[in-house]
Amino acid sequence: MSDLLSVVIPSYNEEGLIPLTSKNLSDILEEADIPYELIFVDDGSVDHTWQQIQDETCHNPAVKGINFSRNFGKEAAIYAGLLYSSGACCVVIDCDLQHPPEKIIEMYHLWQQGYEIVEGVKHSRGDESFAHTFAAKCFYKILSRITEIDMSKASDFKLLDRKAVNALLNMKEKNAFFRALSSWIGFSTTTIEFDVRERTIGESKWSTWSLIKYAASNIASFSSAPMQIVSLLGVIMMILSIILGGVSLYQKAIGIALEGFTTVIIINLFTGSIIMMSLGIIGYYISKIYEEIQGRPKYIVKKTCGKVEDMTKK
Ligand code: UDP
Ligand code: MG
Repeated sequence: MSDLLSVVIPSYNEEGLIPLTSKNLSDILEEADIPYELIFVDDGSVDHTWQQIQDETCHNPAVKGINFSRNFGKEAAIYAGLLYSSGACCVVIDCDLQHPPEKIIEMYHLWQQGYEIVEGVKHSRGDESFAHTFAAKCFYKILSRITEIDMSKASDFKLLDRKAVNALLNMKEKNAFFRALSSWIGFSTTTIEFDVRERTIGESKWSTWSLIKYAASNIASFSSAPMQIVSLLGVIMMILSIILGGVSLYQKAIGIALEGFTTVIIINLFTGSIIMMSLGIIGYYISKIYEEIQGRPKYIVKKTCGKVEDMTKK
């Protein structure tokens, strides 16, 4: 049992894919003779995903299911899967088979060789719109700068040793960003490349707006740099006001003080918008602090199925 591999699969409205993914993964792992468990985390789906997961647990005792009380997001689903896993190592993989399952075998062998984290890095991003690729590039540029970890090709497809899983589970922050935190914790890490495949059934759950929210929340959870921009803007405004103040006093002195009304309007608009923007940024951080301080759980588990350990005490 000490070599047990737990596969964590966040699933949201994936009714068409559960049987396929479950069969695919179990076939591959059985053929490679790897002891395994599949943990499907139903992230509050509104279709028949949960029923499908329950059916799978009847066919295959290695399948386990966790059902959330509502949709809490993929990050929460990953954390729940990790908490309920009992393997010596865990792999996180998307339900839509966009991450090639055969690569798990390679990851597992690397783990056996002593690596504690095996990251799947995207060799190609698959078929995405230009806007999406561009936005993703910008987001990862900013994030890589902030975290000093190259994230441009990072994905959630990775293998983690039990030690790394425990380190992640011990983090109390609510806005946990799995992809970055799993690099942040350190441990001996290696990477394997994979090509992102096309989704066969269903469609991506990310709208542009949800991606923007996701990006903002992850940048804020790793850095307070945007708040420093506020101070920088303050300094710039101060310098500008000294210059303009000087000019105005000079004009007053030589008796042409009435001119310059346009300047007044422009300055008013400019300061107004900078103050609003700055308050927005500060407000955003305050709301994040508020969320953390409330101490609400990352997710709420409604039901489980299959041989799942009782985690209510944890
Ligand atoms: N997912 C989830 N909760 C959500 C959204 C997505 O558990 O709120 C799961 C989804 O079922 C899939 C994985 O996260 O297994 C990746 O989602 P998707 O394929 O929609 O994202 P993309 O591949 O487009 O990044
Ligand atoms: Mg996908």
